[in-house]
Formats: sequence, C-alpha cells, structure tokens
Amino acid sequence: MRLLVVEDDPDLNRQICAALADAGYAVDRAFDGEEGHYLGENEPYDAVVLDLGLPKMDGISVLESWRRSGKSVPVLILTARDRWSDKVQGFDVGADDYVAKPFHMEEVLARIRALLRRASGHATSELTCGPVRLDTRSGRVSVDGNPIRLTSHEYRLLAYLMHHSGRVVSRTELVEHLYDQDFDRDSNTIEVFVGRLRKKLGIDVIQTVRGLGYRLNPPADAR
Ligand code: CA
Repeated sequence: MRLLVVEDDPDLNRQICAALADAGYAVDRAFDGEEGHYLGENEPYDAVVLDLGLPKMDGISVLESWRRSGKSVPVLILTARDRWSDKVQGFDVGADDYVAKPFHMEEVLARIRALLRRASGHATSELTCGPVRLDTRSGRVSVDGNPIRLTSHEYRLLAYLMHHSGRVVSRTELVEHLYDQDFDRDSNTIEVFVGRLRKKLGIDVIQTVRGLGYRLNPPADAR
C-alpha cells in the first residue's frame, strides 16, 4: 500500500512518514499544498494524510480539487483541535476521516488501516485467504496458524494482494502501489518477490494470470 503525506511542519511530516514506513507502507511526502495536489493528481495512492493549514494551497482546496477531478482516494485530514468548523468543511468537500492535532501516532495508524480496509471492502483488520492470515495491526502473517517471516517488500506485496483478493492485479499496479516515488522501480523484481512469497507461504494461493498479472485465491479455487 502506498500513501501520501501532505504536511508542512517538517518534524511532524518526518514523524508521520517514519511511522507509516515502519508499519509497512510505501510513503511519498509533500510539504506544501501545490506539491501535494500535484502528487495526488498523478500518482495512484491508496490513502492520503492531508494537513489543512498548508502553504501555497490549503488542504480544503487540495481535497476539493481532487474530488472534482474524480479522485476517490481515501483522505484522512489533520485538523487543529479547536476548529470544529474545519472538520465539517473537510467532510463536506470529501474527507473520509480526521485526526485532531496533537494526536497519538497510533491513532493515525489505526485510522489509516480502517480507511484502507474499508476502501477494499473488508470489515476487520485481519485479512484471510484460505489458511493464510494477515493481521494488518501487528503486521503478522501465518499459514494454518504457523507464523511466516516476511521481509518488508514481501509483506507489502502480500498485503496488497490480500486487500484485493479475487481480482487480477497487474504488475504495473503492484509496482505503483508497493514502491514510493524515489524507489528504483523495476517490474521484474515483482516476479522475484512473488516467487519468494510463494515459497515462504508454501501453498498455492497466488495465481499467475498469463499476460495480465496475479490473482490471490483460496487454494480450493486455484486453477
Ligand atoms: Ca500546517
């Protein structure tokens, strides 16, 4: 899952990005409204953390513009604690959730998890596919109850496929959603990660759809 953080306070921006990266997300950052707006228009993020008070273009205008151009990416806005009117305005222009400053990072992480799972139609933070379980809270993966150790890239790949299980996900889509902007992207590496993941899971849940990409299916449905 790939996220965008738009926050002009450099320390806060760094803290949020670090926490999200630790939690296993690919993260891009912007420090003003224009830059954030541009990235949101042009990159396929899975969710955005958007501050409202931003230089060059305020958060409400950024969000309004994204929604006008049909971007449905889940957006968590950061608001000042005492500005209830900001929250109302934020929701009215298309925000999905908010966190009031100052906040606990755990709350931001929990709200992002909720936005991501709702966006992909899942009701709980634990995703399952046959005997494979992925707990988005702890980042733990198990097969038949046995814990599986994954690298951060393998985890990201599995988490993305599990959020979108049952549908074909192309390699391009994976590259766009697993790596941040600065990463040296190469769709061949996806194949390598899929191979490693298959080996570690020891069970055939990742189906290759020739010429199209990959689909995650419970073993009974695998063809
Ligand atoms: Ca600000």
